[in-house]
Amino acid sequence: MGRAVRLATPAQRRAVLARYATCYREGCPIPADMAEIDHVQGWAEGGTTDLDLLAPACTWHNRDKATHPDRYRTRRNHDGTWTLLYHGKRNRFAGRFRR
Ligand SMILES: [Zn+2]
Repeated sequence: MGRAVRLATPAQRRAVLARYATCYREGCPIPADMAEIDHVQGWAEGGTTDLDLLAPACTWHNRDKATHPDRYRTRRNHDGTWTLLYHGKRNRFAGRFRR
């Protein structure tokens, strides 16, 4: 599918839902069928709409990841699925003393 299609197709969505039970953020309980289909690699950074790079993210985590991509990283699991890991604000106090 590559970059020709911006959104996941219905078939891709079904395939993603078959692979994930919940939002792919580690520990998030939102069911995958209530989630949006996220590009594991942000679309803006050249991510593609390939099934292998799609994962369900609930509205909150999808938005938060898009707003603060620096706070998240992804992990590829042995079964081919992805887990979204949150590491919080990096250099939280770094800017505070900068002039
Ligand atoms: Zn979530």
